[in-house]
Amino acid sequence: MATLEVKDLHVEIKEEKDQTREILKGVNLTMNTGEIHAIMGPNGTGKSTLSQTIMGNSAYHVTKGDILLNGESILGMPVDERARKGLFLAMQYPAEIQGVTNAEFLRAAINSRRPEDDQISVMDFLKELDKNLSLLDMSEEMTERYLNEGFSGGEKKRNEILQLLMIKPTFALLDEIDSGLDIDALQVVSKGVNSMRGDNFGSLIITHYQRLLNYIVPDVVHVMMDGRIVKSGDADLAKKLESEGYAGLRDELGLDV
Ligand code: ADP
Ligand code: MG
Ligand code: MG
Repeated sequence: MATLEVKDLHVEIKEEKDQTREILKGVNLTMNTGEIHAIMGPNGTGKSTLSQTIMGNSAYHVTKGDILLNGESILGMPVDERARKGLFLAMQYPAEIQGVTNAEFLRAAINSRRPEDDQISVMDFLKELDKNLSLLDMSEEMTERYLNEGFSGGEKKRNEILQLLMIKPTFALLDEIDSGLDIDALQVVSKGVNSMRGDNFGSLIITHYQRLLNYIVPDVVHVMMDGRIVKSGDADLAKKLESEGYAGLRDELGLDV
């Protein structure tokens, strides 16, 4: 079992003229492989900041606390090292990479996580690619196109899930993978994530809406407000939020954010 721990995490960003602003104000979160956690919360509350910080985006400055993968701090590691250690963020890749096809990118990403003398063979790669393309109802043509070049919003989301299925990370941070998806695409994306479920995989699913969680049922739901996790519960918490809204929870917790 692998564990990802976020401990009393405080994160600042730089605004104009070297002004800093604290976005995360002491986030605590522990997740194990075998579990799917969801983070919900109003816009601007720090959800994306949390995923970017876990992945190592240098725009987010950790001022206090720690992030541990299997007990080891990852704060000093650059993004690619975190990826090699098994972390995956759906938004981590540049929007478009000139001259690199989707398939070439995927193979390089897979191989970067494998030892030099155990790189994936072209045959095995293509077999795995075929399987996942049909699971996601994607055409092979998508993989021969340059990475994300001219992909529609829905195609980009599917492609992120293809990356997830091919790279097989230990922990996947999925930030608003449901935004802008119609119901068919949402079902395909959910099917992909659900196919990853198992003892060797954990996921943190960030979403503004409860709808996605009807398809990917989380084990734990956290609500983030104003840079902190203010409540955690099971899947019913998401349903309750949907009916009562964030305002209802604010009242219940006596928050004035
Ligand atoms: P959420 O994902 O919950 O909507 P974010 O983490 O994206 O929230 O944003 C939290 C706050 O931090 C917002 O006020 C946002 O404008 C600010 N913020 C996030 N990232 C940056 C950045 N790179 N530069 C400047 N401000 C940022
Ligand atoms: Mg936002
Ligand atoms: Mg966000």
